[in-house]
Amino acid sequence: MDTHVHLLWLAGKEKEGQGDLIPIEDPATGEIFARCHSASSSDVEAAITAANDAYESGVWSRASRHHRADVLDKCAVLLAEALPELIPLESKQTGRVIREMNAQVPSLTRWFKYYASLLRVEERSVLPTVGKLHNFIDRAPLGVVVQITPFNHPLLIAVKKLAPALAAGNSVIIKPSELTPLTTLLLAKILRQAGIPDGVLSVLPGLGITTGKALVEHPLVRKVDFTGGTEAGRAIGKLVGGNLARYTAELGGKAPVIVFEKADIDMAVNGIVFGSFIASGQTCVASTRIIVQNTIIDTLLEKLKIKVEDITSRMGDPGKLHSSMGPLISERQLRRVESLVAQARETHLAIPLVGGKRMTGRCIFGRFDFAKGYFYEPTVLVSTKYNSITQTSIWREEAFGPVIAVVRFETEEEAIALANDSNMGLGSGVWTQDLSQAFRVSERIQAGMIWINTHHRNDPSSPWGGVTSASGVGSENGIEAYHAYTTTRSTIINYASPEESLESDDWFGGSRMVRYG
Ligand code: NAD
Repeated sequence: MDTHVHLLWLAGKEKEGQGDLIPIEDPATGEIFARCHSASSSDVEAAITAANDAYESGVWSRASRHHRADVLDKCAVLLAEALPELIPLESKQTGRVIREMNAQVPSLTRWFKYYASLLRVEERSVLPTVGKLHNFIDRAPLGVVVQITPFNHPLLIAVKKLAPALAAGNSVIIKPSELTPLTTLLLAKILRQAGIPDGVLSVLPGLGITTGKALVEHPLVRKVDFTGGTEAGRAIGKLVGGNLARYTAELGGKAPVIVFEKADIDMAVNGIVFGSFIASGQTCVASTRIIVQNTIIDTLLEKLKIKVEDITSRMGDPGKLHSSMGPLISERQLRRVESLVAQARETHLAIPLVGGKRMTGRCIFGRFDFAKGYFYEPTVLVSTKYNSITQTSIWREEAFGPVIAVVRFETEEEAIALANDSNMGLGSGVWTQDLSQAFRVSERIQAGMIWINTHHRNDPSSPWGGVTSASGVGSENGIEAYHAYTTTRSTIINYASPEESLESDDWFGGSRMVRYG
């Protein structure tokens, strides 16, 4: 695998960064398998200047929409051709099992195709202005935009943000997570081959507090699109607000999943484990608060325990197809998960039904050594007294690990109250075969995404964003994300003849009534 030193991608070329070298660790083995240059403030300045020059030149910002659509389609084609290189690298830097990456990375071509199609079919309004005026609306790109991405889905989140931003004609600088910058660098090279002009896209790896901060506070930046933790999202929002630039923030989650007695329990159990343990629980929509009707909770827990034990038994080397779940991204993240579970136990308010510790020892498929990486057992926590787990930190705080809390309810009202007991309204789920109940309950859940009898669905056309304070502002995907990368331009044409205009528009010509506004 890759032992190279990776350079910045600045305006269509590789370039050495002036910041410190970042070690890239394989979280499954603890091995530093690559190093990456990071961008200093002077690199940030150079990238922003190049981006602005490209924007002003019109090479992309004023290119015809058909040209931009053709290039985006080509991005999809070349991305598909590069999958054999992208998939193992994405798995290696994130620790996510190859099965997940085999499923996720090929799906990213759909984002380029979707926004290419949108460009081809977009219709623009003509407004009902009074008089002999023709008022039409067009959409113009914003200029230089910055995108900051997290470690958990490096390519998915980069592509989700890049496709609408490029479709709209902006110049983009993307800062990937310092933990996982390698596939975003590779993606930039692919997009250049597809026809994205130099200067329109730069990738600047680096730390948030140095490279990220220098990017988001730059006065030439007209929009910041951030995905990451709530704390960083708030800090960035203050800087972006100071420049009166636009801001989209996709932040934390603590997704509730309500399972009613009218649910198909086997289906619900499959949905819960997918929602909870994909990416080792490191997703913003991880189903971490499972809210189950009293009448079925014993059966559900029994089935859930069997399923979870099966996942644990098949964990191993993330590079192997049989491995079910990978490690956490870092030692720091492992410590956080361990400490939240320890706190829940020490208060005697919750205990593990299954799991609850770091994995050591060897995998059953061979000699893979869990102790070298940051593996944590998929874990289900339950209350010691009636719903006592709701008083613990693990109920409220994002663990970003494979740990879920199960509580019980008697009435629909109680279920809704438990679901809304969070300031992170991002993803949520409802399981019931009763359609009236599904609609009734879904309307009252405070979340940006509500999945009914399914979990964690993501499509380029479908809005993705939070609705409460700690889960962010704005949303990704769909026409809205494209619009959020544009500004409206209203053009009003007076088609009255000179005679008519002289008659009606000479405000200072006397006292008769002429046009105003
Ligand atoms: P993080 O906040 O630590 O880092 C995210 C990115 O922000 C990184 O690139 C980091 O370098 C940068 N950054 C951090 N502080 C910064 C600052 N002050 N200025 C500029 N840049 C800064 O998050 P993470 O640990 O990489 O990812 C996990 C978090 O992301 C979780 O909270 C998760 O819920 C959230 N997330 C949300 C979504 C969503 O769609 N809502 C999707 C994925 C992840």
